[in-house]
Amino acid sequence: MHCTICKLYENDRSTFVYENEHWLLRHSTETNLEGYLILESRRHCLDFAEASEAELASYGPTIGLAMKAIKNVVQPYRIYTFSLAESMPHLHVHLIPRGEDMPRAWIGRGIMAYPLTPAVSGAAMPQICARMKAELKKLSLIG
Ligand SMILES: [Zn+2]
Repeated sequence: MHCTICKLYENDRSTFVYENEHWLLRHSTETNLEGYLILESRRHCLDFAEASEAELASYGPTIGLAMKAIKNVVQPYRIYTFSLAESMPHLHVHLIPRGEDMPRAWIGRGIMAYPLTPAVSGAAMPQICARMKAELKKLSLIG
């Protein structure tokens, strides 16, 4: 099976910031939005209809943890969440922090048109990933 997301687990894990039994969380490399995380199921499946009971039960606490970490690290005005599974048919949810200074054109559904380049700079990526990892570790210890 050829799946880009499954392949990510085997290769470069430099942008991974948290994992548990059912979910992996990584920082997106698609845009320059710092704190843009992607929550991915460990097991290959298309969507929540194909997720197991255990994966569904774990999803709520996991996405809650991820959103708290985004709020604490980048202080966004909103956090957008959505799952499309079009270009990568493997269950994953986008968590996109939207700052108060976001231009009107990209607010709400406009976020889909947000430019993919430039991405977060190579220098900034390890820093934002380290901050996210530390925050997620702290939050998961608190429970
Ligand atoms: Zn997959």
